[in-house]
Amino acid sequence: MKIAVLKEAAGESRCAAIPETVKKFVGLGAEVAVEKGAGAEASIADSEFESAGAKVGTRKDVLKGAGIILVVDGPEPASLAGAEKGALLVGALDPARRRAAIEAYAKAGLQAMAMEWMPRITRAQSMDVLSSQSNLAGYKAVVDAAATYGRAFPMMMTAAGTISPAKVFVMGVGVAGLQAIATAKRLGAQVSATDVRSATKEQILSLGAKPIFVENVAGIEGEGAGGYATEMSPEYQKAQAELVSGHIAKQDIVVTTALIPGKPAPRLISDTQIASMRRGSVIVDMAADAGGNVEGTVAGKSVERHGVTVIGASNLARSLAADASALFARNLYNFLAAFWDQEKRSLVLIDDDEIVKGVRLTQGGKIVNERLTQ
Ligand code: NAD
Repeated sequence: MKIAVLKEAAGESRCAAIPETVKKFVGLGAEVAVEKGAGAEASIADSEFESAGAKVGTRKDVLKGAGIILVVDGPEPASLAGAEKGALLVGALDPARRRAAIEAYAKAGLQAMAMEWMPRITRAQSMDVLSSQSNLAGYKAVVDAAATYGRAFPMMMTAAGTISPAKVFVMGVGVAGLQAIATAKRLGAQVSATDVRSATKEQILSLGAKPIFVENVAGIEGEGAGGYATEMSPEYQKAQAELVSGHIAKQDIVVTTALIPGKPAPRLISDTQIASMRRGSVIVDMAADAGGNVEGTVAGKSVERHGVTVIGASNLARSLAADASALFARNLYNFLAAFWDQEKRSLVLIDDDEIVKGVRLTQGGKIVNERLTQ
């Protein structure tokens, strides 16, 4: 079985393989071919891939005879000319927003597998690209906020006087939010956090931060929709807006991460609430690509409103290309290794396996995933 690793399109710094995963694939009996320059932006030289056992070549060379094609983002279908019929295309293919591309993959006879649709089950945790990338993004959001903020994070007692600690508020305590809390704590900030899922209260406390929760209207109890949030009732939204208004005026840094699968990001901070914050405060809106949690957010840009900098954070994992590639590449390896047949030295996907059913988008020239056909 030959595995091709493609060089990503401009703007994507990550790479779908690292020398460690190449070595492991070779250990499984696979042949690995890496497109020239694929790791350059993630600080991996072609020679490192070669030392790990890969062949380095042009796109045409690496695609020829490959049964598996590894990518970070879904490539333009036309750029896959020369791929073998029936080859597996595995990566974060963004099926919800790239329907036409998925149809083109099907037409080209490729079996497209979308890693972001990995089911959230224990067995698949090590294959979960959303978690691995969100974790790094949560860290980077706080580091970026600290770099923009014109004051220090930790309390400092100096001969020239005392600097008070920054107050950081994290809204949405999923994978990114938890890492944002932990990072802000490490930098010495006073941290508070909120979420609609009551299970997060304990997690916030365990990180030494203060939970700020709507008490008079029920939030989400238990693991309703596979751990994901849903849209909240108007009563809840009103109570949350009041709670946030009271709290946010006293905060220096706010990191928002709230997402609802399949829906635009919930609006959590209004322009009036921004205006209530002290000048020089910083908001990092990690939901910018999904429409934003903050009024006036511009994805990929920093804007100033009422003296507050609002950073429309877009795919922050890309700015940590080396680590993000390492985690992404291991997610891909863990997925393929779980379905590897040692004797055949090849991948054998089990059609009715929950993981395969979750990520498989196309097969036999057609779109087969229920989330795209219904
Ligand atoms: P996410 O990116 O979808 O959303 C981020 C957070 O925003 C969530 O905690 C969500 O509850 C919160 N949120 C949504 N609407 C909100 C609102 N109006 N106000 C405040 N907060 C709001 O979530 P995620 O990071 O993907 O994680 C969700 C859960 O799934 C977590 O409990 C995580 O531990 C779990 N998880 C499980 C697995 C697994 O078992 N394989 C893998 C990854 C994550």
